[in-house]
Amino acid sequence: MNTRTDIPVTVIGLGLMGQALAHAFLKAGHPTTVWNRTTAKADQLVAEGARLAPTVSAALEAGSLTIICVTDYPAVHELLGVGDIALEGRMLINLTSGSSAQAREAALWAEQRGARYLDGAIMAIPSAIGTAEAVILHSGPESDFEAHKSTLDALGTVTYLGADHGLASLYDVAGLAMMWSVLNAWLQGTALLRTAGVDAATYAQFAQQIATGVSEWLPGYAEQIDRGSFPAEVSALETDARAMAHLIEESEAVGVNAELPKLIKAMADRSIAAGHGGEQYPVLIEEFGKPGND
Ligand code: NAP
Repeated sequence: MNTRTDIPVTVIGLGLMGQALAHAFLKAGHPTTVWNRTTAKADQLVAEGARLAPTVSAALEAGSLTIICVTDYPAVHELLGVGDIALEGRMLINLTSGSSAQAREAALWAEQRGARYLDGAIMAIPSAIGTAEAVILHSGPESDFEAHKSTLDALGTVTYLGADHGLASLYDVAGLAMMWSVLNAWLQGTALLRTAGVDAATYAQFAQQIATGVSEWLPGYAEQIDRGSFPAEVSALETDARAMAHLIEESEAVGVNAELPKLIKAMADRSIAAGHGGEQYPVLIEEFGKPGND
């Protein structure tokens, strides 16, 4: 794709992330206009060649597209909800973190005011912005994403998820669930092994192999979930539940926290009580897919 670096862009919100986004656009050669509530945060960017807009309206008018990256959605509405700010014909890309419901509501609100709107989620830290490591998710009308993809490419690995504006936020939290689950499982094992004098670095190498191996099961398990059929090809849930009991017993015996394995075993026990003991592990999707007991 032909990448035009003369396309003017605007970044509203110059916290740690907004500054990184504006910096990446400048580095890629885009004429970049910035605005922030606290003006001093633009100083470094202005020194690098950014133009500081005097008002939000002036900032919106300057760019072919405007990235918004502030603390939360109420801040977005506070910024853009003021009556005299014209959004008609503007292309807004909101990279502020929030829920899928907030994203859908913001999309409706922006569209009612005549703006085009993509929602997004940044799965990266500020120092990664501008490199391929920075994964930035987008959802909303595909034609809007395609029209601006080559400009957005300056920010990292940009990905389009679908027309539903809530998808970027949902993928964002799904990614967090994956990240914390892997880390928590590793910490549980590390705590257990440290009681026998095994240090974290030694176990980390072993744990990495397990995590990679387990990740390879996902496509096959996903097929079972999508089919809604869970034949026990490898092991039955009741066999897994007995192994969970060992993990709990071992943790308690060596004085390690057993809250997390107990939580997972309680879900497995409910599934077994509902008649799924002879099926395979991903049948637990039925427990994950409904409200819990908290
Ligand atoms: P930050 O450093 O705390 O900056 C927050 C920004 O929001 C500042 O520009 C602040 O303006 C602005 N702001 C807050 N309330 C406002 C209001 N009512 N009106 C106008 N401006 C307002 O946060 P950040 O790290 O840049 O994060 C920004 C967004 O990126 C968040 O949604 C965050 O979850 C997301 N994100 C961040 C990271 C990260 O590693 N930092 C990673 C992924 C996603 P002032 O400067 O005037 O206070």
